[in-house]
Amino acid sequence: MGFMGPEQEIVKQFELETDARSNVKAEHGSFTTNLPGVFAAGDMRRGQSLVVWAINEGRGAARECDKYLMGVTNLP
Ligand SMILES: Cc1cc2nc3c(=O)[nH]c(=O)nc-3n(C[C@H](O)[C@H](O)[C@H](O)COP(=O)(O)OP(=O)(O)OC[C@H]3O[C@@H](n4cnc5c(N)ncnc54)[C@H](O)[C@@H]3O)c2cc1C
Repeated sequence: MGFMGPEQEIVKQFELETDARSNVKAEHGSFTTNLPGVFAAGDMRRGQSLVVWAINEGRGAARECDKYLMGVTNLP
């Protein structure tokens, strides 16, 4: 729906921590949620925002996923 906050179904099923605006809590940079191996980025993490932030956070989250799975990453 955009501007309505993340859909809550999966958030609830995984029992992910959210902020006051119903976005999934995760630090910019690590993108880790309270559940190990689950990462949040883009609008789901920061709330409704801009495409450039979605790209930036998607790339960052991909790096963190790679590190989590492989121990190291070569992603830029
Ligand atoms: C009406 C509107 C106008 C906008 N105009 C602009 C603009 O002019 N410029 C600008 O920079 N930004 C604009 N934005 C904001 C921009 O679109 C968003 O910030 C950006 O798309 C966020 O990207 P995202 O990847 O985080 O999330 P999304 O683009 O929302 O991607 C999330 C994806 O996850 C999918 N998904 C959800 N649940 C599941 C599930 N259970 N399983 C599998 N897939 C799932 C969704 O279908 C979706 O494809 C606008 C937003 C809206 C709503």
